[in-house]
Amino acid sequence: MKVVEILFCNNSRVKLVVEMSNSNCYSTKQAPHIPKLLFKLFPHLAAHRCDNDNGFTFRQECECTEIPHLLEHLIIELQGQVQGSGRLRGETQWNWRVDPKGRFHVYVDYSNELLALGAIRVAERIIKALDNRTIDLINVEDEIAMLRKIAEAGEQLKGVGPLTTDLLCHSAGG
Ligand SMILES: [Zn+2]
Repeated sequence: MKVVEILFCNNSRVKLVVEMSNSNCYSTKQAPHIPKLLFKLFPHLAAHRCDNDNGFTFRQECECTEIPHLLEHLIIELQGQVQGSGRLRGETQWNWRVDPKGRFHVYVDYSNELLALGAIRVAERIIKALDNRTIDLINVEDEIAMLRKIAEAGEQLKGVGPLTTDLLCHSAGG
């Protein structure tokens, strides 16, 4: 699984394009160890609300769901652990009549751009490590401590505001 594109669409939602390295292996049904270990590492995930067609709890849903859907919830969870409060939503979509098989579009809310970016990369690393059974090499507490620092920097950046005028780049051929 790889996050191949990250797009900050507006002030509160980021879009990811996620591609599965093996387009035939994208469900937790084929990789039940991933949700099992993930819920052990992040027990609070069991409290996540998840709207799904079956009316399942998130934990039930995870027995047979798309791996990028786990990524979506983990990005929300990591941001929540750092920020403490707030309600963030997400969504995972795919349409393989239009896109190549194995491509997913994941949307996640955020309020701190740098934190969101950090949470995306940490979540991606965790899911990959769970899949490869190398999660012992990642110290989740250290990762969350790092995300807290990133979030502080992100808060300072908010104070700066958007960079506009005087920084336009004029490039012209000739
Ligand atoms: Zn969900």
